Amino acid sequence: MPQFSDLGLSAPILGALAAEGYETPTPIQLRAIPPVLGGRDLCGIAQTGTGKTAAFALPILQRLAAVPQRAVRQACRVLVLSPTRELASQIAGSFRAYGAGMPLSTAVVFGGVPIGPQRQKLARGVDILVATPGRLLDLIDTRSLTLSGVQVLVLDEADRMLDLGFIHALKRIVKLLPHQRQTLLFSATMPRPIAALAEDYLNDPVKVVVAPSATTVERVEQGVVFVSSDRKRDLLATLLRDPVLARVLVFTRTKHGADRVVRHLVGAGVEATAIHGNKSQPQRERALAGFRDGQTRVLVATDIAARGLDVDGVSHVINFELPNVPEDYVHRVGRTARAGAAGTAIAFCSDEERPYLRDIEKLTRCPLRAIPLATPASHDGPVERPAKANLPREGRRASRQAPATGRAAPARHPPRPAGAEVRRRDLPAAGAFPAFLHRSSSTKPGSVGRRGGPGAARRPADREPLAPGSEATSAVSLRR
Ligand code: AMP
Repeated sequence: MPQFSDLGLSAPILGALAAEGYETPTPIQLRAIPPVLGGRDLCGIAQTGTGKTAAFALPILQRLAAVPQRAVRQACRVLVLSPTRELASQIAGSFRAYGAGMPLSTAVVFGGVPIGPQRQKLARGVDILVATPGRLLDLIDTRSLTLSGVQVLVLDEADRMLDLGFIHALKRIVKLLPHQRQTLLFSATMPRPIAALAEDYLNDPVKVVVAPSATTVERVEQGVVFVSSDRKRDLLATLLRDPVLARVLVFTRTKHGADRVVRHLVGAGVEATAIHGNKSQPQRERALAGFRDGQTRVLVATDIAARGLDVDGVSHVINFELPNVPEDYVHRVGRTARAGAAGTAIAFCSDEERPYLRDIEKLTRCPLRAIPLATPASHDGPVERPAKANLPREGRRASRQAPATGRAAPARHPPRPAGAEVRRRDLPAAGAFPAFLHRSSSTKPGSVGRRGGPGAARRPADREPLAPGSEATSAVSLRR
């Protein structure tokens, strides 16, 4: 099996990787690091969770360190553009961690926080600047930054950048960059507008494609509960009584929906926090930090806030509402089963959402297993009992359950028997989906991921979880 040392990486970087606990390169790292080290442009089709940040950060750090330069005021040598603040913070944290043994500076700038400290940081000049497009342009427009010294441009999550309407900002920014530069573009998908960007901005790029839905189909146990919209909150609160749901990310479609779910959960005695675009940046960072260090068990998020969110040990993803864009389902589900761990995803699907479910199954080519709802014994209405044979066996892979041809047979979502939809008092007792929820997941409560810098090593599943407040847990807070 190829090792990091086979990729031409220098001793300080190999040391940082060892400190991170990374043993072997991921496929995108294997294929991207050598050409990027060689100065080539690269177009990578990969989503978060594949190790793509290290795939670009490691060779960039090495190339910068090979040609030491004094920082130039109000300038940077590497510009990384990210669609969201959280992702920008995470990328900057990765650069700092991987470059710990090198005299290189990293800064991150994004909106939602005062611009003054960012200006001050840039005044001295930095080696690596990670930015969201809007704030970057504000800084340029107020003459706090010039891009004429950029040697490497990274466009991360380019498809999301376009979804969020950053295309004009992006075009303006690229016009300000030198023509002579190395450009790396990463995107989870390659729709036509991204292909056009790649065509315009990249020079004879190396193309690396990492199977887009591998995370979803390979390692995440996925199921769907058919439940009417007005019963979802009760179902969620009931489900969360089971402690096996150790670190849970709940997705709603809207910001208000996320707040409503949090209020309901808190009312039901389940501590939960929301993260979405209406929250201030400090609130978002606090919510994320609490979730990362295990203080908050349940984080309720909208897609934009959760995009690129990298928290290890997410045991369950609950799609409280199904996304109307099927790719978002893949991204949501990819928040669990990170870096080789297992995970479980449960979708709550109302009648109105069935078309979304069909789109998702078509995209992932992975039919979701219907999870029947159990009902208490003292029940006086029609019952849909958990048919054991219908439940996935623990540890069995969702992909293996899917027929090779991919499409769902009609029997997978049989029409609900009349009255079988969950009613408040019919809600399953905690643990009513035991086989599904209690799959042998390698994630553990309290385990935390890297993202924090040197010493905050990835905790392999079979190691003891870190105690809150330990070196790694305190280090995972967003650093700038
Ligand atoms: P990314 O796709 O860059 O968001 O990375 C996903 C997660 O995988 C992050 O938590 C990284 O720290 C972790 N990771 C990246 N490369 C490796 C590796 N070679 N071995 C183990 N974990 C890794």
